[in-house]
Amino acid sequence: MGVKILTYHNVGKPPKEARLKTLFVSKEQLSRQVRLLKLLGFSFLRTQDLIPNRSTSRGVLLTFDDAYMDFWYLALPIFIEHYLRCLIFVPVGLVGEYNRWDYEKLRIKKPIMDWGKIKELHHLGFEIGSHSLTHPYLSKIDPKQAWEEIYTSKAILEDKLGSEITAFCYPYGDYDERIRDLVQKAGYKLAFTTKHGRFEDSENLFELRRITVFGNDFLPKFLLKIL
Ligand SMILES: [Zn+2]
Repeated sequence: MGVKILTYHNVGKPPKEARLKTLFVSKEQLSRQVRLLKLLGFSFLRTQDLIPNRSTSRGVLLTFDDAYMDFWYLALPIFIEHYLRCLIFVPVGLVGEYNRWDYEKLRIKKPIMDWGKIKELHHLGFEIGSHSLTHPYLSKIDPKQAWEEIYTSKAILEDKLGSEITAFCYPYGDYDERIRDLVQKAGYKLAFTTKHGRFEDSENLFELRRITVFGNDFLPKFLLKIL
């Protein structure tokens, strides 16, 4: 049982020229997954519920990396319909732009939400976290630059949204001890990795494990992942 943190990227149908199509989960799939989680009695958690002693026995936290525009059009209506919320990680320096960090490799430019939409989501009760400024491999860049990516992204989000930002998500899941400590020093309370596993198996709150949901996870496979 326990708590599962699920990772999503894009919602919708992948363009046919796109690579890594499994990062796209259709809106029908997302809708079925949300219904199933509700049916199984999972509580939909917020980040504050992950701080020790506050976790429930059967909980789930849905996270969306990269704040793509398709969240707004395809996922938001599902969350609104079910009165549910989730956590969205924003590459703060690329708001209103696109996936500059991997569009060449993936062969598609995926639009990222603008500040108007991110502010509206925050207003609606969605949690917003930092996904750095420009989505670099943090352990491979200059330490001063890494600090800028971690610290300044938090400061900008807090300035734009007028509330404290507690969650950070390592771009590409790339981090080492030094980066983890910088994230803590910047004042975050939690950091999310791409390491697979249940919340309870995480080393600490700055190395949270998650379960990635793929577009080819049909419902029985999804069920196996969450149980
Ligand atoms: Zn990302």
